[in-house]
This record gives sequence, C-alpha cells and structure tokens, in this order.
Amino acid sequence: MEHSSKYIQNAVEEMSSLPGIGRKTALRLVLSLIKRDSSRVERFAKSFLDMKEHIQFCSTCHNLSDNPECSICSDSRRDHTQICVVEDIRDVMAIESTQQYKGVYHVLGGRISPMDGIGPSELKLRELKERVLADTDISELILALSATMEGDTTNFYIYRQLEGHEITLSTIARGVGIGTELEYADEITLGRSILNRTPFEVSLSRP
Ligand code: ZN
Repeated sequence: MEHSSKYIQNAVEEMSSLPGIGRKTALRLVLSLIKRDSSRVERFAKSFLDMKEHIQFCSTCHNLSDNPECSICSDSRRDHTQICVVEDIRDVMAIESTQQYKGVYHVLGGRISPMDGIGPSELKLRELKERVLADTDISELILALSATMEGDTTNFYIYRQLEGHEITLSTIARGVGIGTELEYADEITLGRSILNRTPFEVSLSRP
C-alpha cells in the first residue's frame, strides 16, 4: 500500500510491526492519530518512551516492574511462604485477575522445550532453586505451567531440582484444560484451579 505521505508510510510501517496489527488496521490507527491534538499525540508517544525507559524485571520474581522489586513482592500483606511458578508475565496478570491467590510469584520466562532450543539455563530455574534454598520461610511451590508436554517437563525438572528439600510442590487443578494456555482460561476456572491444587507427586502417578 503506497501512501501520499512518507510520514504516514513510516507511521503505518511502525504500527503494523506490532503483533496482530495488519496494514489496514495500522492505517486506521495512524489516521485517528492525525486527527488528535498534538498534545494528545505527544502524551501517547511519551507513554511508550517512559515505559521503555523505566520498566524493569523484578529482581526477586522476574515480573515486570517499575522498581527493582515489584509491587507484589514488596507487599507485606501477601503470603510470602507460597510461590506460584508461571511461564510468563501474562500468567501473573491472569492469576491476579482471579483475586483468589494471595501468595507471590516466580516467572520462568518460558518452559523447557528442546525442540525450540530452550533448555533449563534459558529460564529462571536456577534463580528459583536459589530463591527457595535461601528463604526457609517458603513452604510451597504452586506449579502453574501450561498443561503441555513442555509444561510437564518443566514441572518435573523443578521437582528433581528440589527433591529432598523441605518444600511442598503442588500443581494447579488441570480443570483448566489440557493444552489450554493459562492466559485464555476464564477467571473463575483459573481461580478454582489454584484453590483446588493437588500435590505434585499425585500428578506424577497419573496415567
Ligand atoms: Zn516481584
């Protein structure tokens, strides 16, 4: 699609580089920005620049954060004895939206997937073990990885890493659905699945 203006052309190209935004949608969004006051467009652009400049990973749980420690980890009202292990920051958002979980998190940054070249060292697995061993108050890890082969492999890796240590491992109830990404599970189902979690050893003995 050629445009009469190279400025529009550039803006459309940048906008359509975002996931899920095709060139038609990009053009519609760009044209709506042209109609806005300069001050609003400035605020719009600045919000992205500010985000890029200030956002960082929480040094404890690896969630995205405005500060070196995220608002969940630094909240003394949360239960710091329970850590929910998730693949992605979107899983934290999904579980938080259920308002059923009061513990803290550990974001792995993915799951073990040899096919995709993702081994344990690509994920925050060593950090998880160090965190658990360094803090004796931690009593339970809730494994909330996706119900896929890679999720199961990652669960088992964590289990082996912590075998022999005084810590309870549990998995969220698989009512979430085999192969369903946490992100897409509805809030009630996901909330229930955290409350009705099962000991990890039980999930190992299932067919
Ligand atoms: Zn944190």
